[in-house]
Amino acid sequence: MATRSNRSPDMHINLNVRGLKQSATLAINELSAKLAHEGKTIYKLGLGQSPFPVPQPVVDELKVNAYQKDYLPVRGLRELRDAVADFNRRRQGIDCTGQDVLIGPGSKELMFLLQLVYYGDLVIPTPSWVSYAPQAQIIGRKINWAQTTPENDWRLMPEELDKICSDDPSRPRIVILNYPSNPTGDTYTSDELKQIAKIARKYKIILLSDEIYGELHHRGQHVSVARYYPEGTVISSGLSKWCGAGGWRLGTFTFPANLRWLLDAMAVVASETYTSTSAPIQYASIRAFSGGMEIENYLTSSRTVLRYLGKYIYMRLKQAGATLSPPTGGFYLFPDFSPLKERLAERGIHDSPTLCKTLLEQTGVATLPGNEFGRPATEMTLRLAYVDFDGAQALCAFDGLQDGKEIKTEFLEMYCPNVINGINQLCDWLK
Ligand code: GLU
Repeated sequence: MATRSNRSPDMHINLNVRGLKQSATLAINELSAKLAHEGKTIYKLGLGQSPFPVPQPVVDELKVNAYQKDYLPVRGLRELRDAVADFNRRRQGIDCTGQDVLIGPGSKELMFLLQLVYYGDLVIPTPSWVSYAPQAQIIGRKINWAQTTPENDWRLMPEELDKICSDDPSRPRIVILNYPSNPTGDTYTSDELKQIAKIARKYKIILLSDEIYGELHHRGQHVSVARYYPEGTVISSGLSKWCGAGGWRLGTFTFPANLRWLLDAMAVVASETYTSTSAPIQYASIRAFSGGMEIENYLTSSRTVLRYLGKYIYMRLKQAGATLSPPTGGFYLFPDFSPLKERLAERGIHDSPTLCKTLLEQTGVATLPGNEFGRPATEMTLRLAYVDFDGAQALCAFDGLQDGKEIKTEFLEMYCPNVINGINQLCDWLK
């Protein structure tokens, strides 16, 4: 009989976790750093991390609050929760108070808690961010991938959502909608959001609206679906992307008042797991959510740099033969190289993981394969994060620009050289 000592150690791993690998985003980041450390030239288009620095007033607040050492309330610092609610009211006209806000160590952790606490299936469009599905798998929830098409820029269509839900109308479900999207860089129109809201209302869906890239809409025109389905939408956001503070780990969930029971249940689990979010970070975050001129200027400049850079790469990839959606927000693109399938097959490349691996080995360009986002491996999709540049320098140069603040290719070559060189390498290699 097998005893504890002679069984494979794997046997003692929870079945839901057994065989899972480290999250693809973090794995590519660590691999890129290792290869760079070994002396290879790596273009880091793998991990999606903001290239921009944390705005100075927010850094200053962190400095003066370094001494804050006490455990804070599980749900978050009262002043911060109020500041987040205020932010949602100002930006999106959402009717909420600080009582509706839950602060956590990154929105990723809050998403995990939500999936743990709410007993329902997960519905996500394919492609979707790499961690939604593994979180559901770890908890043991059923995952429903909603089909999308490149013609619709990979957006979840209301008809598709209706089809999935009509199968078992009263089944509890969480639907995650992420826009501007990771991985596609695309977003929804207000009309599309209204139609999705209608279906969500029909089936009483919990709509987790992942708006972590909302403030990085390239034209500052982000619209939340919570405007159209306030009673069932939980807005997920945080400091990681728009405030350049991924490593600070500060996430926010905003609930409608009638879902307070869900917030309460998540707070119970939070109290038994991470206790509370880092105190100095919470104090500093109040400054970030309070806004003001400096933060507004920082956002306008960040968005403009990303808009021009995204558009430039989009054009280059299109010319190289890929199909992809034009970027409208955030810092990702999701090209499909399937039109070049024959050319790639001649090099022994028949799927996106091999494409991604070969590209890294032969050109140093780090990306992620589409199958990590729920696409079939045989489809030649890749996610590129156009973030490998010094955002502080780029912002400074942008602020010094005259003539209408238009960004020319020379600017991108000068201030985003790794991204531009990486794209050059990729396009040359495709030839
Ligand atoms: N959201 C980022 C990405 O997709 C990185 C952070 C993470 O995955 O935890 O690359």
